[in-house]
Amino acid sequence: MAVQFVKIEVSPHGMAPSSETDALKMIEVCGRTAYKSEDKITPDSAKAFVLMLKKHGHLSVLEHSNAVLRVTADVHSQTGAVEPVQTLQQNLVSCLKERNAYHRTHVLPAANALAIAGNFRGWMETLRYLQDRSNDAYHWLAGAMHRFFPNLFKASESTPCRPGCDIDLLDSQQQLALLKNDNSSDLPVFIFKIVCDRGITHEIVRHRVFSFTQESTRYVNYKNKGMTLILPEELEPYYDPETAALHQGESLVTMWEARADQLFQWYQADVNRGRRPEIARDILPNLLKSEIFVSGRWSGWKHFIELRDSRQAHPRIRIIAQAVRKYFASLGLSCGGDEVHT
Ligand SMILES: Cc1cc2nc3c(=O)[nH]c(=O)nc-3n(C[C@H](O)[C@H](O)[C@H](O)COP(=O)(O)OP(=O)(O)OC[C@H]3O[C@@H](n4cnc5c(N)ncnc54)[C@H](O)[C@@H]3O)c2cc1C
Repeated sequence: MAVQFVKIEVSPHGMAPSSETDALKMIEVCGRTAYKSEDKITPDSAKAFVLMLKKHGHLSVLEHSNAVLRVTADVHSQTGAVEPVQTLQQNLVSCLKERNAYHRTHVLPAANALAIAGNFRGWMETLRYLQDRSNDAYHWLAGAMHRFFPNLFKASESTPCRPGCDIDLLDSQQQLALLKNDNSSDLPVFIFKIVCDRGITHEIVRHRVFSFTQESTRYVNYKNKGMTLILPEELEPYYDPETAALHQGESLVTMWEARADQLFQWYQADVNRGRRPEIARDILPNLLKSEIFVSGRWSGWKHFIELRDSRQAHPRIRIIAQAVRKYFASLGLSCGGDEVHT
């Protein structure tokens, strides 16, 4: 049949990786979802794919990433006194100005160090901002980013590091340990792949603090692939998860299949008379299956769960919020007021 129904899926993809090799692979997986070109992924394809995105300015895909620098406060070269980490934080915040919104900073008092996090897009645009203003911080931050992510960040031509100061990378497990100890640190980025309908992806993308990459309905031509819809609630009792098929002969099933077939026939007729897929899609329903990668920090996901795992929310986004809640609970992170789900 040209039309099929599938259930919602939520797949946690863990924390954004700290090594460049793994980070490039993660970005490739997210980016290829947009064009359904996952079959082009090979063991060596990630670097070229991500550099192509960067060259063409498709930087939103590079947001599915996280680079957390740990900057240890300076030892003053003449007095030998250690600079308080709070001074380092104030200096950085005043350099970054409006770019602070794209970063998280967290003081690590025991180490007299500061963690500063941002996704790759955030870092790229912050470094350009600092460079354009001839700010000294550009050189040491660009030097550090080049050291840890040499394919994505070019070397600064000047001083690679602040004199007397150490910079290293906090890996995702260290970020998670800090988060579990102190929720306000908010350093790791968590990535989920969600398969749901277009109506629900539209609700998801209203959560502006997240980053998104979504299967395109503009470029995907459904004519030869068939049309996949998300299972509406009233068909649930007739869905066999073993075979992923609907029980035939039920009047509701017959009604839904006839509706869906009609819409798909109109879509095919439009493509056949030369309309581009991006125009022919006008007739496709809200229930059209779409895949979306969503990335964000714990504060954003916590807010999402609070708003969407609620009786007021749409039942299908609620299913998603419950799966997200469950994943975080498995990491030992929970929102207050957890509801009991049967
Ligand atoms: C039950 C329910 C019903 C809804 N009904 C409707 C509806 O009828 N119509 C409709 O249009 N939407 C509706 N929405 C969507 C809703 O209005 C929000 O767009 C969505 O829930 C995202 O929430 P948010 O803005 O708090 O989250 P985010 O966009 O993720 O923002 C998170 C936080 O960041 C801050 N923030 C982000 N961007 C800004 C900004 N530009 N300025 C200031 N602070 C910012 C705020 O502190 C905010 O709480 C509904 C949502 C729910 C849960």
